[in-house]
Parts: sequence; C-alpha cells; structure tokens
Amino acid sequence: MAQEAHGAIYDLLAVRGVSRRDFLKYCSYVAAMLGLSEAAAPQIAAAVEAGARGKLKPALWLNGGSCSGCTESMAQVDSPDVATVVLELLSVNYFETIMAAAGDHAEKAMDDTIEAGGYLLIYEGAVMTGEDGNTLLINGKKGKDILQKAAEKADAILAVGACAVDGGWVYAHPNPAGGIGVQSYLDTVKVATPVVNLPCCPTSPEWIVAMVVQWLLVAEDDPATFLAKTELKTRTYKDSVTGNNVTLNYPAYIVGSTIHDNCPRRGHFENGEFVTEFGSEEEAKGYCLYKMGCKGPQTYTQCPITRWNRSVSWCVNSGAPCIGCGSLNWVDNNAPFFKRLSSMQLGGGVGNVQPGTVGAIVGGVAAAGLLAHGLGMKAAGRIGDGPPMETAKAYDRKKMAKKGGDK
Ligand code: SF4
Ligand code: SF4
Repeated sequence: MAQEAHGAIYDLLAVRGVSRRDFLKYCSYVAAMLGLSEAAAPQIAAAVEAGARGKLKPALWLNGGSCSGCTESMAQVDSPDVATVVLELLSVNYFETIMAAAGDHAEKAMDDTIEAGGYLLIYEGAVMTGEDGNTLLINGKKGKDILQKAAEKADAILAVGACAVDGGWVYAHPNPAGGIGVQSYLDTVKVATPVVNLPCCPTSPEWIVAMVVQWLLVAEDDPATFLAKTELKTRTYKDSVTGNNVTLNYPAYIVGSTIHDNCPRRGHFENGEFVTEFGSEEEAKGYCLYKMGCKGPQTYTQCPITRWNRSVSWCVNSGAPCIGCGSLNWVDNNAPFFKRLSSMQLGGGVGNVQPGTVGAIVGGVAAAGLLAHGLGMKAAGRIGDGPPMETAKAYDRKKMAKKGGDK
C-alpha cells in the first residue's frame, strides 16, 4: 500500500510515540485474541487505517448499575499506546462517566446516534430490573428502558465486565435491586441484537480494544456478520431473577483456558509449595496461593496472559489469590474470597459438593479436571491441611445450589 495511504494512521501513531513496528505487532496480538492467524494482521491494520482516514464508527457507552470500574480500567489504556489510537477511531457519542457534555446536549447526542442506527453499543454494569426498573433512573428514565432502546438499533453490543455479563456483584444474594446481565434482559424484551460478553471485574481494556477492532473489521462490509466472524465459546446459566436459561457468547480466546493453566506460580503448585500465611517467607518466595483461596483452577479467563494496566501485572502476580471474578455468579460462588471454600460449585450437572467427594465425582467431568488435580495433590500429601476452610453460610449454600455455576 502506498505510503500516502498509510499516512494518517502513522502520523497519529508517531505523535504518540508509537512506532510502525509496534503497531503491526499489536495487530498480530489482536489477531491472536480474535482467534485469527497472524496472517490476518495486515487486514486488521487496514481496518484501523480506514478508521484513521476519517471513517469514524459511531459508538455509545452506557452505564447500568456499576461502580464504573470498567471505565476506570479503560482509563489505564493511556497514551502513548496503540490501543488509545484504536479507540480514537470510534466516535463515542455518549459516555456518561467521562464525556464533557452534560444535560440536554448529552441526551441529544445519544438520541441522534440511536436514531441514525448502525453503531456499536458498549454497556457497563448490571441492568437494574428491581421495582420495575426504578432502581436505576437516569435523567428520569429507567436504565433498563434506555438499554432496550439503544440495543434495538445497535449493530452489535459489547457487555463489558462481570456486571454486564450476568449481573456480577450486583446479582449477588439478596440482589434487592434485581440486577441482571445484558443478554438476560434483552432476552426478556426480545431484542436479538448480537451481544459479546467480556468477563471480569473490571474487564480488560485490551479485550475491549480487540472487540472494537473486530467491529471495525466487519462493520465496513456487513455488521450482521459480527458474531459469525468472531470465534466464540458459550456458557449457559439460569437467571434467578427472570427464571430464564441464558446463553452467553464470549470470545473463545478469552475464556478458553483456566487461570491455573497459564499461571506463573503453577510450578509451585505442582511441587506442593504453598503460601499459608500472608507476610510469610513462602509468600515472599512467590509460592502458590491455592491455600489462600485462589480460584484460578476453576476460573476460565486468560488474565495471566493479557494482564492489566498496560499489561504490567495481574492479581496473582501482585500477590493476591484469584477471586474468580471471571466466572458466572462469581460473588455467591466464590466468597469468602481469601479462604478455601468448604463447598465447590461444579458445572456439568455435578452441582454443589464438598471437596472430599469431588475426586470421586469428577472422574469424567473435564471442566472439573483441574479441581480434581488439586484434590489429587491433597490425596498425595503434597497439599496438606493449610489454613482452615471457610464455613459457608447456610443461605449462601442454598443460593449456590439454586443458581448453578460455570460450565
Ligand atoms: S492455584 Fe492460583 S496461584 Fe496457584 S498455580 Fe493455580 S492459579 Fe496460580
Ligand atoms: S485473575 Fe481472577 S480475580 Fe483477577 S481479574 Fe482474573 S478472574 Fe478476576
């Protein structure tokens, strides 16, 4: 391609101190995240370049019931950075938390975008359905109605962060505000716009950027192919608020392996080297955090690979056990976070069981293989007793059994 055609994007990158090499490397990284081969990198670069030549794609970023942590996570993609440049290729016409406009101007920007249609809708937070939606009012309108209206005319939706996925911590017992996930809510109002879910609390800005690139790739030709052209993996759960079974689409690359599979402390796990107390010599040595409640073995996300804060670090790397925020109904299933659970919620119809019986039950249940591995380690005497397990509250156990866990 002529240098002239590349001009806009490379000028934009150069201003931010990003080299052409870094840009192409990033495109290869995005290709991997989208489940494409490295050969797709030039196509990705071309899509980004098209954006840089002035064809901005409209987007709306709406907030439901949330702490705005995913917005904060996005803010860590600071300049100079390729991801920042990619995000600048979107015309984000409404982003309540950080937009300069307010009041009628902000509302008008959103209304005009919805009327024109053909945009990417990014939704952060739970959909608040309690008290017929009055648990979240924005400018006098119910949050759930704003979502429905925006979703109907969007080409595609990114549900960003655990709360948008299945309600997240808002969905935790007793959930008085009726917080649920985007897909679950759209099912109830029969809006069929494709939704891609990005897990974790907060989600990774890199995952958002990868999906935005995917959007830029398909939007040029046929936005309806957004789901078909993304390699997906699904999870199904029963929503305790609506009573419906909900099927969620995730990018396969993000949820294809467990934290434990990619954890740099895995060698210590295999060697039976564990932290049993914070502030101990074992902690200083970076031993495995399984006995401190790490949920890495049963959590399917690739946090150790992507990492946070411009890929600097992630939970286990900074010394904290994984609390499993990338799994479904993560608060009810995983709290108390820094203790080993006295019961484990397994998918595949196994249900809620005690650790002592897991080994026998999981024989052929692939999803629980790593848990079985951990318990095998215990049987072999390599784990030992460690700190005491938590005593699950009766209502928690009941709730876990009712809501079901990850697949
Ligand atoms: S249990 Fe946690 S800390 Fe230990 S290896 Fe697995 S993911 Fe890493
Ligand atoms: S490592 Fe665990 S707790 Fe940390 S973001 Fe990933 S899933 Fe959540």
